[in-house]
Amino acid sequence: MTSLASAYPGIHFNSVTFTALEAGPRVIITGAVHGNEICGTAAIRRVIEEINGGLLTLKAGLVTFVPTTNPLAYAKGQRSGERNLNRNLYPNPEPKDFEDLVANWLCPLLAQHEVLLDLHSFHAMNEPFVMVGPADNDGPLQPFKHAAKEKALARQLGVQRFVDGWLATYARGVARRQQEAAQRKNNGESSSKSELLNTDVRYGVGTTEFMRSTGGYALTLECGQHKDPQAPHVAYRAIINALSFLGVLEQPKHAQPADQNAPIESLSIHEVIDKVHVEDSFSRTWGSFDQIKQGELIGTRHDGTPVVAAADSIIMFPDKGAQAGAEWFYLAQRNA
Ligand SMILES: [Zn+2]
Repeated sequence: MTSLASAYPGIHFNSVTFTALEAGPRVIITGAVHGNEICGTAAIRRVIEEINGGLLTLKAGLVTFVPTTNPLAYAKGQRSGERNLNRNLYPNPEPKDFEDLVANWLCPLLAQHEVLLDLHSFHAMNEPFVMVGPADNDGPLQPFKHAAKEKALARQLGVQRFVDGWLATYARGVARRQQEAAQRKNNGESSSKSELLNTDVRYGVGTTEFMRSTGGYALTLECGQHKDPQAPHVAYRAIINALSFLGVLEQPKHAQPADQNAPIESLSIHEVIDKVHVEDSFSRTWGSFDQIKQGELIGTRHDGTPVVAAADSIIMFPDKGAQAGAEWFYLAQRNA
C-alpha cells in the first residue's frame, strides 16, 4: 500500500519558533495558506532574518512563524494544492488529500498557541482589510470570549477597514442549502458531491475559526493585491506592530505604530447568495467592496431571473467561476 504522503516528493512542513526567556503570550503567524498569496511569506522571512541578525529583540513569550503554510500550493504558485486549505480545516484521521495532511500538522500547532495572525492577499486592486471574529457569545456555532482583545490587536495592524460576520453568514447559507438538499431528496432528485460538501457547516472553518475553537483569538489580514509591491510592507508592519503590542518583541525604533485615532470603516457580512446553475452570470465584473444600490441588477440566473439588490449593499468575494450550489457572492453593510 502506498501512503498518501508519498504522492508529494520533496514537500515538507516548516515552522520556526523563537522563545523568550520571560514567560508571555504564545503567538503564531502564518503565510501562504493560499499558495499564491506570498506577501506574508516575504514579510515573515524578513522578520526571521531580523531576529536572527539581532535587529529585533524577543521580550517575552514565544512566536512561531510558518512562512509557507500550504507548501504544495506555494510550489505550484496556486491558491490551493488540491483543495482550499482555509475551509474544513480539521485534523482528519483518514487524510484524503494534501490539505488533510496540512491540517493534521497545522491544527495541533495552532492549538499550542493563543493568538494567530494569518497573512493573505487578494485578486482585485483594493485597500487592505482585516477580518475579525464574532462578538463575545456562548452560542453553538462559534462561542467566543476574546472579542475585545481581538479588536484591540486588529487596531494595531495599520489598516482601517474591518470586516466581520463571515462564519455566521456562511452558516445561514449552509442551513438554506440543507433545506434545499432535503427538498431534492423528497422530490427523488440527487445532490452532487459539491452540493453535499456545501451543506456541512464545518466546511466554513478555516485558520481563524479553528484557532477560536481552541480557545484562542485570531485575525486574517488581507494585505493588498497579490502582486502589489506594498503588500509585503503591509504584512511586515502588521507583524512588528502585533508582536510589539503583545509584548513578544521589544518595539524597534523603525516601527510605524498604527494611529489609534484613525477612523475605522466597519463592515458586516450578512448574506451569501449561491450560484444555482453554472450559467448564472454577473451583470458586470464585480470587485469586493463595490457599492450596490437598492434595486441594482447584480446578475442573471440561467433561466433569465434577475438577481437584484434588496437594499443598498457592498458586494464581497464575488466568484464568477463558482460551481452550482456554491457561494457566488456575499453582501455586507456598513456599520454606523
Ligand atoms: Zn487568501
